[in-house]
Amino acid sequence: MARHTQVTSRFKSARRKDGAAACEACGWKPPDGLREAGQRDGHKIMHAHHVVPLACGGPDVSVNLVLLCPNCHALAHRLGRMTLTGAYPEYAWAGAATRDELLAELRMIENEPDRWSERMKRQRAEEAAAARAARIAEEEKAAKPRRELIAVLISSLDAPNVLPAARKHLKGRHSGGR
Ligand SMILES: [Zn+2]
Ligand SMILES: [Zn+2]
Repeated sequence: MARHTQVTSRFKSARRKDGAAACEACGWKPPDGLREAGQRDGHKIMHAHHVVPLACGGPDVSVNLVLLCPNCHALAHRLGRMTLTGAYPEYAWAGAATRDELLAELRMIENEPDRWSERMKRQRAEEAAAARAARIAEEEKAAKPRRELIAVLISSLDAPNVLPAARKHLKGRHSGGR
């Protein structure tokens, strides 16, 4: 989230003083000309992003922050919404739950978009196949008791002595004790 806290503004001004105000993923930085264009605060264009969102229990500390340009920031949030599973529901997809993993994902999108798209397609197909296999296994499990019952019924039909034996047993109980 681009939630502004004292930590995020300290983080951003520290980066500015170090001359490291560029996007950590793609290297873009606001051009100096913004100052001349009357945009005194070009640095405000840059965003301090919480790798693990505060809403997911991420800590408000600088190691959980990454300086991103608006484009990479939008991508980071889009990546987060691509999954609903994992320890950090927003960021667990493809294991991009840490700062380094998030940056690696963003850099791959930036530098090798085709490779990234291919990998994403493959991953989605694998997930769909796994979901299908799990569904089939569930159906198998649900069908098993029914199949077993049918097998018992069929085997009782094959054993002609079962019914007479049961009849004899019942008769014995009725006549007994009198
Ligand atoms: Zn953010
Ligand atoms: Zn960027």
